[in-house]
Amino acid sequence: MYDLSLESRKAVLRRPERCDWIRTGAYVAIAVLAVAGFALGPGREHRALSLAGIAVAIALLIRWHAATFGYRCPHCGREFRISAWADLFSPNNVTAKYVKCPECGRRDWMEALVWESA
Ligand SMILES: [Zn+2]
Repeated sequence: MYDLSLESRKAVLRRPERCDWIRTGAYVAIAVLAVAGFALGPGREHRALSLAGIAVAIALLIRWHAATFGYRCPHCGREFRISAWADLFSPNNVTAKYVKCPECGRRDWMEALVWESA
Protein backbone atom coordinates (compact mmCIF):
# COMPACT_ATOMS: atom_id res chain seq x y z
CA MET A 1 0.00 0.00 0.00
CA TYR A 2 3.06 2.23 0.02
CA ASP A 3 3.82 1.60 -3.63
CA LEU A 4 2.05 4.62 -5.10
CA SER A 5 3.79 7.21 -2.98
CA LEU A 6 7.09 5.48 -3.57
CA GLU A 7 6.83 5.47 -7.32
CA SER A 8 5.70 9.09 -7.54
CA ARG A 9 8.58 10.23 -5.34
CA LYS A 10 11.12 8.16 -7.23
CA ALA A 11 12.88 7.29 -4.02
CA VAL A 12 15.96 5.14 -4.14
CA LEU A 13 17.61 3.15 -1.42
CA ARG A 14 21.13 3.87 -0.23
CA ARG A 15 23.21 2.43 2.56
CA PRO A 16 22.96 4.27 5.87
CA GLU A 17 25.68 6.83 6.46
CA ARG A 18 27.24 8.15 9.62
CA CYS A 19 24.68 10.92 10.06
CA ASP A 20 21.86 8.36 9.89
CA TRP A 21 23.44 6.37 12.69
CA ILE A 22 23.99 9.51 14.75
CA ARG A 23 20.32 10.42 14.36
CA THR A 24 19.25 6.89 15.27
CA GLY A 25 21.52 7.06 18.32
CA ALA A 26 20.06 10.42 19.36
CA TYR A 27 16.48 9.11 19.23
CA VAL A 28 17.44 5.98 21.13
CA ALA A 29 19.28 8.09 23.72
CA ILE A 30 16.17 10.21 24.30
CA ALA A 31 14.11 7.05 24.81
CA VAL A 32 16.71 5.59 27.18
CA LEU A 33 16.89 8.86 29.15
CA ALA A 34 13.11 8.84 29.51
CA VAL A 35 13.25 5.27 30.79
CA ALA A 36 16.06 6.16 33.20
CA GLY A 37 14.09 9.17 34.40
CA PHE A 38 11.16 6.92 35.10
CA ALA A 39 13.23 4.37 36.98
CA LEU A 40 15.22 6.86 39.06
CA GLY A 41 12.72 9.62 39.70
CA PRO A 42 10.81 9.91 42.96
CA GLY A 43 7.08 10.40 43.23
CA ARG A 44 4.00 9.34 41.34
CA GLU A 45 3.68 12.51 39.26
CA HIS A 46 7.23 12.25 38.08
CA ARG A 47 6.64 8.68 37.02
CA ALA A 48 3.48 9.53 35.10
CA LEU A 49 5.34 12.27 33.26
CA SER A 50 8.26 10.01 32.49
CA LEU A 51 5.91 7.34 31.22
CA ALA A 52 4.35 9.84 28.82
CA GLY A 53 7.84 10.84 27.72
CA ILE A 54 8.76 7.23 27.06
CA ALA A 55 5.60 6.66 25.00
CA VAL A 56 6.22 9.79 22.91
CA ALA A 57 9.90 8.99 22.39
CA ILE A 58 9.16 5.43 21.28
CA ALA A 59 6.30 6.50 18.99
CA LEU A 60 8.52 9.14 17.34
CA LEU A 61 11.40 6.71 17.00
CA ILE A 62 9.28 4.04 15.33
CA ARG A 63 7.46 6.45 13.03
CA TRP A 64 10.73 7.99 11.95
CA HIS A 65 12.38 4.60 11.55
CA ALA A 66 9.55 3.18 9.44
CA ALA A 67 9.53 6.26 7.19
CA THR A 68 13.29 6.50 6.85
CA PHE A 69 14.38 2.94 6.31
CA GLY A 70 13.57 0.59 3.46
CA TYR A 71 14.52 -2.95 2.55
CA ARG A 72 15.60 -4.75 -0.60
CA CYS A 73 14.46 -8.33 -1.03
CA PRO A 74 17.47 -10.63 -1.62
CA HIS A 75 15.25 -13.06 -3.53
CA CYS A 76 13.44 -10.88 -6.07
CA GLY A 77 15.14 -7.48 -5.70
CA ARG A 78 11.95 -5.65 -4.75
CA GLU A 79 12.53 -2.51 -2.67
CA PHE A 80 9.87 -1.77 -0.12
CA ARG A 81 8.86 0.03 3.03
CA ILE A 82 7.24 -1.51 6.09
CA SER A 83 4.55 -0.03 8.31
CA ALA A 84 5.32 1.37 11.77
CA TRP A 85 3.55 -1.64 13.29
CA ALA A 86 5.61 -4.09 11.28
CA ASP A 87 8.68 -2.09 12.24
CA LEU A 88 7.79 -2.38 15.91
CA PHE A 89 7.07 -6.10 15.89
CA SER A 90 9.69 -7.41 13.47
CA PRO A 91 12.82 -8.91 14.97
CA ASN A 92 15.86 -6.82 14.22
CA ASN A 93 19.53 -6.40 14.93
CA VAL A 94 21.54 -3.23 14.43
CA THR A 95 21.73 -3.27 10.63
CA ALA A 96 19.09 -5.75 9.49
CA LYS A 97 15.51 -6.72 10.08
CA TYR A 98 13.55 -9.93 9.63
CA VAL A 99 10.79 -8.85 7.27
CA LYS A 100 8.42 -10.24 4.67
CA CYS A 101 8.73 -9.21 1.04
CA PRO A 102 5.42 -7.87 -0.36
CA GLU A 103 6.35 -9.07 -3.85
CA CYS A 104 7.39 -12.71 -3.42
CA GLY A 105 6.17 -13.23 0.14
CA ARG A 106 9.44 -14.65 1.44
CA ARG A 107 10.73 -13.77 4.87
CA ASP A 108 14.38 -13.08 5.41
CA TRP A 109 16.88 -10.89 7.21
CA MET A 110 17.17 -7.80 5.06
CA GLU A 111 19.62 -4.96 5.45
CA ALA A 112 18.10 -1.67 6.59
CA LEU A 113 18.69 0.93 3.87
CA VAL A 114 17.80 4.61 3.76
CA TRP A 115 15.34 6.16 1.32
CA GLU A 116 16.64 9.06 -0.67
CA SER A 117 14.55 11.15 -3.05
CA ALA A 118 16.16 11.10 -6.46
ZN1 LIG B 1 10.94 -10.71 -2.76
